[in-house]
Amino acid sequence: MTYSCIGLSKICFLLSVTFCAFLLLLLPKFQTSWRPRGYPQPLPSPPFNSCKSEFHHQQSEPSLTDHLDPEGTDTTHSVKDETLEKWGDYRLHTRASILKLKEQNGSSTNPLQTMLKDHHAPAGDFIKENLELKDIFIAVKTTRKYHKTRLDLLFQTWISQAKRQTFIFTDWEDHELRLRAGDHMINTNCSAVHTRQALCCKMSVEYDKFLESGRKWFCHVDDDNYVNPKTLLHLLSAFSHSQDVYVGKPSLDHPIEAADHVQNDESTTVKFWFATGGAGFCISRGLALKMSPWASLGNFISTAERVRLPDDCTIGYIIEGLLGVKLLHSPLFHSHLENLQRLRGESVLQQVTLSYGGPENKHNVLSVAGVFGLQQDPTRFRSVHCLLYPNTTWCPTKNIL
Ligand code: UDP
Ligand code: MN
Repeated sequence: MTYSCIGLSKICFLLSVTFCAFLLLLLPKFQTSWRPRGYPQPLPSPPFNSCKSEFHHQQSEPSLTDHLDPEGTDTTHSVKDETLEKWGDYRLHTRASILKLKEQNGSSTNPLQTMLKDHHAPAGDFIKENLELKDIFIAVKTTRKYHKTRLDLLFQTWISQAKRQTFIFTDWEDHELRLRAGDHMINTNCSAVHTRQALCCKMSVEYDKFLESGRKWFCHVDDDNYVNPKTLLHLLSAFSHSQDVYVGKPSLDHPIEAADHVQNDESTTVKFWFATGGAGFCISRGLALKMSPWASLGNFISTAERVRLPDDCTIGYIIEGLLGVKLLHSPLFHSHLENLQRLRGESVLQQVTLSYGGPENKHNVLSVAGVFGLQQDPTRFRSVHCLLYPNTTWCPTKNIL
């Protein structure tokens, strides 16, 4: 009896050892499904293989420029490849390339439909949602020297219609601005210089503040942009904030190519589209959350260092390059890198953002007649505002476009 008992325990022991060995063999299979969910994992490396194939795919489609200028009558400057070679100077690269602009004059098509029809994103279905202005977070990037010269005009015009949505990101504790904007003025403590690092520092704070706000949409604009809150709301209502949406207008007519310095000496090439910050862009909360590993709590600055690119390009790098989400190319956003004179008549009032000529071309302003003259309103923002909100106290009583 004792003998058979010992035999039985031996068999039991052998069976459990075999079972354990079997379990050990299965372990690697289980491990793949144990990966924590929630945060997206970076795409398998090298992440830009997919970007490259997307790039070739995009090249075979009609390009943005083809679409915008079907006759090929490019009256603006064409984008030069040399812009990509000189990454040392931010202003030369991202901002000095000029996008060909579609002749908008008298266009009877709905700009939103046009954009959705022609966008470069995968043709996924976008779910409409009931969006309110309070769901949008509009970040205005500024600097101390522009508080009077640029911001005052924005407060008088479009910000007056979107006070609770607008947050000013600056680099100086301006008491007058604090009184005016209260906690909607954010002193980023970033340096007041126009360098890649300083601009990325501000974008990093904008991003963190947006996440903290709990709002559904993050929109970034410069302090020389006019935002039409109504058309912005209309545009964003076409999507759901929980989907991956990145919408804006590129300043180049091709994806940007940059070196990704993964480690000190190593680098791979990355190609991706980005929306120019000078025209403004928006990102859904769903997508912004996915950007978090590369964008939140100072990570944005190290990500920008990795590609050595300015703020707006780094946003494109994270979204298209790392997350593989396509930029939705929109004709409704405008920077002063375009020929703004080509927007005419009623169509001016249907855009989401507008701008005015920078120091390099002061005469590049919107063509808006019948309200204020050029001397009274050199940026044309006051005229646009009076056409949109004729009851504003300082507007002339009768406006004719
Ligand atoms: N800006 C800044 N710090 C600076 C200079 C500019 O934050 O030292 C901001 C400025 O307020 C604006 C944006 O950067 O929102 C773009 O500046 P600007 O229009 O002067 O230059 P652009 O790049 O459009 O030629
Ligand atoms: Mn500008």
